[in-house]
Order: sequence, then C-alpha cells, then structure tokens
Amino acid sequence: MMRTYVITGSASGIGQATAEKLKGLGNTVIGVDIHNADVVADLSTPQGRIDAAKKAIELSNNSIDAVIACAGLAYPTATTVSVNYFGVTEFLNELLPTLTQSKTPRVVITSSVASIMPNSAELVEAMCANDEAKAVKIAQELVDAAAGGEQLIYGSTKRAISRWIRQQCLKPHWAGAGIPINAVGPAIVMTPMVDQIIKTPEEREGLSKLVPMPLNGFMEPKTVASLLMWLTGVENTHVTGQTIYIDGGFERIVRGEDVWSWKG
Ligand code: NAD
Repeated sequence: MMRTYVITGSASGIGQATAEKLKGLGNTVIGVDIHNADVVADLSTPQGRIDAAKKAIELSNNSIDAVIACAGLAYPTATTVSVNYFGVTEFLNELLPTLTQSKTPRVVITSSVASIMPNSAELVEAMCANDEAKAVKIAQELVDAAAGGEQLIYGSTKRAISRWIRQQCLKPHWAGAGIPINAVGPAIVMTPMVDQIIKTPEEREGLSKLVPMPLNGFMEPKTVASLLMWLTGVENTHVTGQTIYIDGGFERIVRGEDVWSWKG
C-alpha cells in the first residue's frame, strides 16, 4: 500500500536515507528541512513550525499517513532545544488533525542513546512542561556559564522528547485515535552530524571508546531508516510509547541487565 510520509531533516543523514528508501518503494515523501527540501522551513521558530505544517498539508492534498521527525542539531546551544524538542512537538501538533484522518496513521521521532546519558533535570522539566521560553533561558544560562553544563543540552533534549512520547502516547488524540507514537534511539550513525566530530582516525577511535557498540560498530543511516519505516508502516499496530535503541548494544552496557527495577 503506497503511503504519504512527511519527513523532517530530509536534506541530510538519517532523514535523507529514509526519504530515499520510502520513495524507492513508490511512496510519496514530503521533505521538510531548512534547505534543499519540498518544504523549506526553520523548525526552531514557532512561526516556522506553523508555516512548515501548513505547506506540508497543502502539498499532501490533506492526506498524511505518517510523520518521521529527524530534523535535529547536536550543538551545545539554546537553538538545539528549540529544534530537537519544540520543533518536533509543535510541528506534530499542527499536523495531527490531518494525520488523524489517515486509516493507518503513525509517528516516529529520532531520539538518541543520549536520552540515557547525563542531563539537566531542570532543562528536561521545562521542556516536558511545554515551556519553551523557560527551556531556552535555562539552556542559554548553561551556555553562558561555560562550565561544561552546556554539554548536557543535547542529552536533555533527547531525554525530554522520549519522555514526551510516553506522556502523550495514551491520550485520546494518540492511542484513542489509533496512532502509535514512538522514538528510535540510535548510537553513532555515520552522517554529517557525526562527520563534524570525527575528522581523524584518532577521533573515531576516541568516539568508539566513549560510545562502544559491540554489535557491528558504527551504523549507516539506512540501518536506522529500516526501523523508522517499520515503526511507521501499517504492520505496526501495537508498539507505542517506546524508544527503541538501535545501538549495537550500547544501551545494554549503560543500563545493565536489569531494566525492570521500577517495581522495586
Ligand atoms: P544531519 O545533520 O545529517 O541531519 C539533520 C537535518 O536536520 C539536516 O538536514 C538539517 O538541515 C536539519 N535541521 C537542522 N536544524 C533545522 C531547523 N531549524 N529546521 C529544519 N531542519 C533543520 O543529522 P543526522 O545524524 O541525520 O540526525 C538526524 C536525527 O538523528 C537528529 O535528531 C539527531 O539528533 C539524531 N541522532 C543522530 C545520531 C548520529 O549519530 N548521527 C545519533 C543519535 C540520534
């Protein structure tokens, strides 16, 4: 069955690989990005999100089956908060009325293994409380302090977005409307985002020590694309609220064997 997908971050990396695979199978893809896309928009601003959603809905002729949110930044800046969290939640809220009309609507978001790494609890709470002004202010204070706290910004955005999925997934407009909403949590994927930080073999070696992936090492974006496609395909009728780690075993290393301890 051919479907219509809206993919953010379609100009590069994971979003681009997913768009190519889906198009190759005959699906319609509406790419959204700050450059080189069907919908050129800045998801870091409230107006940019509204305009992007409006244009995507127009281009789809009011028919969207799935949204795959890949646009993201890894810089230790306040803008990363606006793109990685509010650029997902606010954009999805705008698309929801159209998405709900699909017979098999699906949503998936790219979180990260950074969601289980150290974060700023205050910043995560501000995002989960849907307070963009406060979240941006906290992030900017971390940047201005230049004491290392700014390195917590990226992980905080990914923790918050994985929590948002759990906060939302059972609500009438998601589960009640038949919409599974999940995230993927990749470890290291060879995309331009990672190319910026590993320019030499020594840097690559350093990153593989920091983020060990015993099963098959660093990944190609098409590997993540396959999981994004399954989670947004018609076969996914019952997986919701999850962050599925696709990480060569890194999450298992960090969280250990027993992840069932919440019941004590
Ligand atoms: P990438 O840099 O190759 O692609 C990200 C895309 O997002 C770019 O095309 C960029 O233009 C777009 N984007 C950035 N800011 C935007 C804005 N304001 N408005 C619209 N579009 C904007 O990165 P990638 O590695 O493909 O990352 C995709 C997602 O996967 C991100 O959310 C990232 O955090 C996540 N992720 C990546 C890795 C990795 O190792 N590459 C690991 C875990 C999670």
